[in-house]
Amino acid sequence: MSHPRRKSLITTVGGVRVGGSSPIVVQSMTNTDTADVPGTVEQVKALARSGSELVRLTVNSVEAAAAVPAIREKLDQSGVKVPLIGDFHFNGHKLLKEYPGCAEALAKYRINPGNVGRGSKRDPQFAEMIETACRYNKPVRIGVNWGSLDQDLLTRMMDENNALPEPLDAREVMRKAVVASALQSAERAIELGLPRDHIILSAKVSGVQDLIAIYTDMASRCEFPLHVGLTEAGMGSKGIVASTAGIANLLQAGIGDTIRVSLTPEPGGDRSQEVIVAQEILQTMGLRSFTPMVIACPGCGRTTSTYFQELAQRIQSHIRHRMPEWRKEYSGVEDMTVAVMGCVVNGPGESKHASLGISLPGTGERPVAPVYEDGEKTVTLKGDHIAEEFQELVEQYITRKYARKAG
Ligand code: SF4
Repeated sequence: MSHPRRKSLITTVGGVRVGGSSPIVVQSMTNTDTADVPGTVEQVKALARSGSELVRLTVNSVEAAAAVPAIREKLDQSGVKVPLIGDFHFNGHKLLKEYPGCAEALAKYRINPGNVGRGSKRDPQFAEMIETACRYNKPVRIGVNWGSLDQDLLTRMMDENNALPEPLDAREVMRKAVVASALQSAERAIELGLPRDHIILSAKVSGVQDLIAIYTDMASRCEFPLHVGLTEAGMGSKGIVASTAGIANLLQAGIGDTIRVSLTPEPGGDRSQEVIVAQEILQTMGLRSFTPMVIACPGCGRTTSTYFQELAQRIQSHIRHRMPEWRKEYSGVEDMTVAVMGCVVNGPGESKHASLGISLPGTGERPVAPVYEDGEKTVTLKGDHIAEEFQELVEQYITRKYARKAG
């Protein structure tokens, strides 16, 4: 599918290319204490296994900085190569200087120009971090955040605006200040010696309209790859919907080289959900394929039992569980579609469009479930083991249809 992607430079982050026409990269962030090496290693592994191609950690203390090389080493020993990104704030310049093992182990540094230091400390501390990035040949994400915007810059821009004959409203000035902070910091980093292709920009806000306006403006004014995501998107469906509305609008306009969906997990919830949502945004938009898609009808008065919901959920879980192995073994398996439909009246039509489809019996229908493969009816399942038998048909279909990868 052709996609009008904005032209940008390419930045390589630990071997992962971001920008240009490279695939849009999915990233995530841990919520463990980075100083907790085993806990962080486990979470990074889970995020990488879900498909996160870059993982960010907070590096906010000497304990966290000291833990980073051990985390990298343990991941390498387990064969998990996912690049790690360090998220630095006020003490980042010190931590990078005093913990060279941390500076070396990270594949990229994220610097928030609003959080590197106050007043006269800001410029030298920013410069120290950029100099470390130059010394270790690491790329940097200059990540502006609405909530921690450089207050000196904002005040200056507000004053300039107030002096205009027709001042803009305060929100508009704030949007411009976010973009200015990102662009000015990037130019400052280049003056300090950071190569132009070692910079990624982001400007995260929590409102969808602000996000779209800010990124549209920023995209038209620079050639740096852009990391897109909504900050403080929220929990559950609200977080997913807000992130999708913002990110998808930008991607459709060709803006965005790497994305993160920042969801607040439920207590004890799975951090990997943010990776799955990011992948689903890209896959449902036809921009990348990660895993076979399960298409399920919404159900209606014809489906008074929960059987078809359970089957759809079971197939979805089975695919997610098996995908890491399938991905290693079979080429193109991520393009497969599986339809699970709730009745044999309207279900077969959708089933025929899928690689593999099943139409379960609706209320009052004969207890049989026709199965379609590439549009042709191949078998009719009946009895008490339809779910197991259909799952087995999915396995057989993959073995038959997708070429085994060499090695
Ligand atoms: S496929 Fe059948 S069960 Fe599903 S929504 Fe349509 S009519 Fe209802």
